[in-house]
Amino acid sequence: MRTASHILRLEPYTPGEQPASRRVVKLNTNESPYPPSPKCAAVLSSFNLDDLRRYPDPNFTALTKAIADKNGTTPDRVFVGNGSAEILALASRVFVENDESIGSLDPSYTLYKALAAIHDVKWVGVGRAADDAQRARSALAECRRSNISLFLWTNPNAPTGEFVEPETIAAFAGKFKGVVLVDEAYADFARGNCMSLATAKRNRNVIVMRTFSKSYSLAGLRVGYCIGPKDLIEALYKTKPSYNVDAVAQAVALTALKDGAYHRKTVAKVIKTRAAFEKALAKRGWDVIKSEANFVFTKPPTGDAANDIFSYLRDRNILVRYFPGPITGDWLRITIGTDGQMKTLLAALDDRFKKLKG
Ligand code: PMP
Repeated sequence: MRTASHILRLEPYTPGEQPASRRVVKLNTNESPYPPSPKCAAVLSSFNLDDLRRYPDPNFTALTKAIADKNGTTPDRVFVGNGSAEILALASRVFVENDESIGSLDPSYTLYKALAAIHDVKWVGVGRAADDAQRARSALAECRRSNISLFLWTNPNAPTGEFVEPETIAAFAGKFKGVVLVDEAYADFARGNCMSLATAKRNRNVIVMRTFSKSYSLAGLRVGYCIGPKDLIEALYKTKPSYNVDAVAQAVALTALKDGAYHRKTVAKVIKTRAAFEKALAKRGWDVIKSEANFVFTKPPTGDAANDIFSYLRDRNILVRYFPGPITGDWLRITIGTDGQMKTLLAALDDRFKKLKG
């Protein structure tokens, strides 16, 4: 018995740090700073313990029905995963043959590259371009050149926060022979989304994916879902672990989804804080990419280095995210927290600036 050689070579995905202490100002993994809907607490406290004797519903019937209703589609076009990360893991197997590749934007969510490596297929990144249309054209050319059968289009993108108009993705999908999975983990914080592409009757190759981890404040629950053409959804069902989403998670996610008023309120708070934070950074000379997500990708003013600031903040119990490398190494990704947390962060930055000058 031995480990497969491509697994021995594998560079695994590194998730953001999850410190045990609650005292840390945690702005590193794009979690919500607000609690989930209070109705979720009621579900948990009244959950019938005896129900845990049984396996959960393998078809997530109640949850898929609610997701379908909310998005104006039918349950046979909905799939639910143990976090959207599980859907990505399944898709990277289901829609990619051994001689095909996985494509995505670059920079983008670093898990994609690791998933390709797990399946021993090539990952190909498409860099930033002058404009979105140009980027879509380069993506299409790359798909042909590198035999890409699955394109993971993150919108808004992570870690940049940039948003691409759905029409651009629609035009790309119309010409692409493979499957486009639009990863909309952050779409609730954006001005638009691609859901109508996924639910359209004529759609043959677009899957739109969402998660409860960000805007619903339920990263610890592990629930994500996607919507797409029936045959693609069926393929995901065929390959999933039988009971991939536990009974408690299904019940809590359903309740969170139904509490639309609470969801809208927390999303609005994050968007408001984001606008103020972007302004505050720009005022201090930071380069800020206009964000449509619950984080900001930003470059410190000349004379200071992103990785030094990362360590400085970490020493002060403030966690942000730093991605080394030629494309991202001068930048920091900072999750939008509460107004109070952003104030603490800005005060620490001001303090550093004073010390550096003094
Ligand atoms: N897609 C993107 C772009 C993400 O940033 C994340 C989480 N960091 C995920 C998917 C996975 O989220 P989850 O598994 O919690 O649904």
